[in-house]
Amino acid sequence: MKIWMPVQFVGLGMGLLLPITNGAQAVPEASPVVRVSVFDDAKVGTRVLREAEREAGRVFRRANIEVIWIQCPQDGTERGPFGSCTEVSYPAHLHLRIAARSHGVKQSTVGMSFQSDGRGCYADLFHEPIVVLQEESHVDAAIILGHAMAHELGHLLLGTNSHSRDGLMRAHWEPGDLAQASRGRLLFSAEESTRMRSRFTRDDSEQLAAFVEKQAGAQQAAPLEGAKGN
Ligand SMILES: [Zn+2]
Repeated sequence: MKIWMPVQFVGLGMGLLLPITNGAQAVPEASPVVRVSVFDDAKVGTRVLREAEREAGRVFRRANIEVIWIQCPQDGTERGPFGSCTEVSYPAHLHLRIAARSHGVKQSTVGMSFQSDGRGCYADLFHEPIVVLQEESHVDAAIILGHAMAHELGHLLLGTNSHSRDGLMRAHWEPGDLAQASRGRLLFSAEESTRMRSRFTRDDSEQLAAFVEKQAGAQQAAPLEGAKGN
């Protein structure tokens, strides 16, 4: 079993706006914050997608980077508190699109990122090969998808030549890697974490972190409906 995650060099058009994030939560002062617009073209579904985002968010939190997920409906026009789905800026606002399958690359490819001169804001994930991996490995699809999301976002934040010999950024995941993922141990290395954080300026992080903390305070004062974000 192999997973291919090539980095390709292309651009993508975007559309659509956002409703919501995975909830306002306090952000450690020194952590950069990246917003990610997520487009579920493959109709993976809310449960799997939220779990995958939690997994990817946990992986990034271990690298001292906070992720705010922006759920982007197919035809949304609303602008939410953390910005619009169509907004894009490097490295503070990136885009992930989940498609059913890839076109023009190996069927086992589960994701790809799009970069030019070591920078890029767009990455794609492919759902069908993830389902195949789930059936072969018996690792939950949300776990696989979440780590694939973190891998591709990692490419965007690390730049070119960002595959590693071990860990999350391996070009090909073996069954042992998926087993590590299911135990929460497939992570960025310390060097990768430092390199990703170095991409952010203080302005990128502090303005957004302050806003997130303010939102968290507002939510505690006036809780919103139900189990938001679950
Ligand atoms: Zn890769």
